[in-house]
Amino acid sequence: MSDLAREEFARLYLAALDAAEEPALAARRELWSGSEAVEKLWKICDRLLDNARRFNLTAILEPGEIVRKHVLDSLIPLALLAENGVEARTILDVGTGAGFPLLPWAAVLPENRRLTGLDSTAKKISHIRECAAYAGLNSVSGIVGRAEELACGKMREKYDLVTARAVADLPVLLELCAPFVKKGGIFAAFKARGEDEITRAKAAALILGLTEPDVFRYALPGGDARLLLLYRKTAPTPKNYPRRWAEILNHPIG
Ligand code: SAH
Repeated sequence: MSDLAREEFARLYLAALDAAEEPALAARRELWSGSEAVEKLWKICDRLLDNARRFNLTAILEPGEIVRKHVLDSLIPLALLAENGVEARTILDVGTGAGFPLLPWAAVLPENRRLTGLDSTAKKISHIRECAAYAGLNSVSGIVGRAEELACGKMREKYDLVTARAVADLPVLLELCAPFVKKGGIFAAFKARGEDEITRAKAAALILGLTEPDVFRYALPGGDARLLLLYRKTAPTPKNYPRRWAEILNHPIG
């Protein structure tokens, strides 16, 4: 039995799209409110509610809040990236957790993209795989592991676009994520706040091969303010990064 009726989800989602004031999203409203996208997004949220009752996946359990704080907070940054000419074939979501932004992105992007979710918690990646199968998200795969370890192996410098939402403080996050980005590619960080973090992360960005970020401000429907930071990779990350987790955490670059 379903936790969330499809019609109820569609009503909440379409209302949230209308309430969002971001012009980049409005430009994609028609495409992203088609029946195929709505069906996939509904299945993602339905499975999230179902699994969240059994193990810790998200603190947000009210359907309207899931739509606003998870789905729209994944799709508005995607619209901003598209609006700014970011075209990525290979995408890695570091610390994907219950699959945000990974799963909503897969629901609305063309199937020829390759989206990978990475998380150190096996249960979360099982949830990602289950959701991908249930919602028919053929472009999604999941990897269990620690970012700082996998970034030293064959995933290094392989992705056009790397994302992370709510994973770590920015200087730490840059060290975890920058090594995965191809030269010429992009790291997009989702932040609830961040002006002081951007300043504290300046040295890390420079050392890891990233530019200073372009900063986009947006609001979720209802008004919560968010930041999207877009770093471009202009030089390879030096081989001695990322370091071991204890070092990254106890002695962040800068
Ligand atoms: N991006 C999701 C989840 C955020 S919670 C969202 O916005 O809803 C942070 C997630 O990052 C957790 O699931 C945790 O297991 C994962 N994580 C934290 N540090 C990690 C690391 N070093 N490598 C891989 N995953 C990590």
